Amino acid sequence: MEILFLEPVYKDYIWGGQRLKKEFNKETPYDNTAESWEISTNEHGKSKIKNGKFKDRYLSEIFNMIDMREDIFGTKCLNLDKFPLLIKFIDAKKDLSVQVHPDDEYARKYENDSGKVEIWYILDCKPNAKIIYGLKPQVNKSTFEKALRTGNVEKYLNYIDIKKGDVIYVPSGTIHAILADTLICEIQQNSDLTYRVYDWNRVDKNGQPRELNIKKAIDVIKLNTEIKKVESDNEDCQELLNSKYFNVEKIEANGIYTKKSDKKSFNAVNVIAGNGIIHTSDEEYMIKKGDSFIIPSAIGEYTIIGKVKLLYSYI
Ligand code: ZN
Repeated sequence: MEILFLEPVYKDYIWGGQRLKKEFNKETPYDNTAESWEISTNEHGKSKIKNGKFKDRYLSEIFNMIDMREDIFGTKCLNLDKFPLLIKFIDAKKDLSVQVHPDDEYARKYENDSGKVEIWYILDCKPNAKIIYGLKPQVNKSTFEKALRTGNVEKYLNYIDIKKGDVIYVPSGTIHAILADTLICEIQQNSDLTYRVYDWNRVDKNGQPRELNIKKAIDVIKLNTEIKKVESDNEDCQELLNSKYFNVEKIEANGIYTKKSDKKSFNAVNVIAGNGIIHTSDEEYMIKKGDSFIIPSAIGEYTIIGKVKLLYSYI
């Protein structure tokens, strides 16, 4: 059993910056990089394995090897038709579009895909940073739709404060936008369904406005969503999300930290600070900020040595 280190896929959306290259050791081909899809089997960007016996193969291929499924991905993955997560680093140099994602029921009915809930771990942001989360109270769908059709949207959007280490849960149906100068690790259901409703009247590199999908967005918007935020910037905070879709924990190793793999689920791990070494029973691996990997379910006990901060996602 080997830990599977992953090679990301990069996206140069119009709002990206340089921080993934400069601060997360990413060898991106672009001048400005918006996202690195770190752990992905999604058809719009598949990560590849960069070490060991599966080197250069797609994670999706490994997931489809049914005889390996239980040992690598765990018993909860045995009956899944696709890998359940999609994990990205996001460098928002500029504002992202205002958008919403459908839930599973709507996505299955109209898009033949799964819906999307997502969680944002705020890796860094400027002082007094905000995000858009939901609509202001008392705004109803017809008011909002009218505002979208006339491009007069901003006064209806709800802004909330964020700071480094905050964890924001964004259920499907929640209008949201990541705003400029924010660096995020985003963990989501494996779906790329986004209904963009407002793009700040911008154009793309070809001079065209990006597509909006107002009708579907209005269908799926949920009003008066309660804000779910965890302030995690202290060592004691470990559980970031426990949901029926997936779970996320933050692990801070400082010295020696021993852990055991979980027979029920793989652990998808993102190194968000520091560096160190992982020792398994038959291998050792150097890890550093920006690395992403899968710890197989059957790997057993292992030790993390160093000063390193990790996000662990699993089902
Ligand atoms: Zn989103």
